[in-house]
Amino acid sequence: MRTRDCPTILCGWDVTTTIGTSYSPPDQSYLGRPNDNENEGLSLSCLIMVHLFKYDRSGWYNGVMDPTVRKCILCDGTSHRVVFEEFGTPILRCRTCGHVFSSHKAEPHYDGYFGEEQLDPAKNFWWNEAHGKMYDGFSKIFLEGKTGNILDVGCGLGYFLKRVSSVPGWTPYGSEISKPAVDFAKIHLRLSNVYSGRLEDAPLHDIAFDVVTLWDVIEHLPEPYPLLDRIFHLLKPRGILFLHTPNVRVQLAKARLKRAIKGMDPSTHYLEAKDHVHLYSPRTLPLLLNRCGFFDVRFIHLPPIQSVSGSQNRLFKAAKNAWYQSAKTLDALSFGRLNIDNLFAVANKR
Ligand SMILES: [Zn+2]
Repeated sequence: MRTRDCPTILCGWDVTTTIGTSYSPPDQSYLGRPNDNENEGLSLSCLIMVHLFKYDRSGWYNGVMDPTVRKCILCDGTSHRVVFEEFGTPILRCRTCGHVFSSHKAEPHYDGYFGEEQLDPAKNFWWNEAHGKMYDGFSKIFLEGKTGNILDVGCGLGYFLKRVSSVPGWTPYGSEISKPAVDFAKIHLRLSNVYSGRLEDAPLHDIAFDVVTLWDVIEHLPEPYPLLDRIFHLLKPRGILFLHTPNVRVQLAKARLKRAIKGMDPSTHYLEAKDHVHLYSPRTLPLLLNRCGFFDVRFIHLPPIQSVSGSQNRLFKAAKNAWYQSAKTLDALSFGRLNIDNLFAVANKR
């Protein structure tokens, strides 16, 4: 076992990640699949218990017995329970802080998200038109009538930045790990200030941005602290970080409902366990952001993506908008205690 320390200063997060022999590769790291080494030293009765409980949703086995269990990134807790299982990958909930995460060990910097089809401008209904209402809603609240620099981290093909570039007074910048996506943004959308690679390596000055956005990024990052720390430094004092990410409260309920109706169907999206490795809630996302120095984390509502999984079906679209209206109403009636919308979080830097 070897350890490494988080390079961040502001987060104060002491990472002790086990690498090598004591951290199994993804396929063997299924926490409910004991191997010989894990069982070493256990009594026969204990071994029987391990096998009896290996799929137990109470997570007794996963939380207590397995030495390869991942640490919770929010509280360092190692006791978890299984709340869902997606094709052999358990989704865990930390017993200490309630954070939900996938047991899949994802690559820290995955750059293969944009395939050939996504790079075809004629097939970009999802990224362009479907997201338009949401992006316009954002601009109305945060950009119109103001001026400054905005940085979109994980800007993908650049459609958000393209819209921002039409708002007077704002200079858009972007960073994206996928080089083909950056090339697309530069060639097809004629965006100039877009950098490929990790944000940590981008040639950007500290204290330069008024707004930083993370659209559908944070859930993909197995270790979000280095990125959030970099963003904190890039923001000006009183700058804001905006994040959009799925709400685990809703996603988990939907996944369970789908499983109850149609079982586990390989063509159905459940929690995307190998892609969305951290699933945040209105309670746990502020914990993450507070640990990185952000304060006053609040949630807003924006019009949803006008499509379900890329479909242009009007009924699906209407259902999605009806859900959005209901979520807004419920949030208002419960004085912010019940948020069933996607998470649109706003965090401030002092
Ligand atoms: Zn925790």
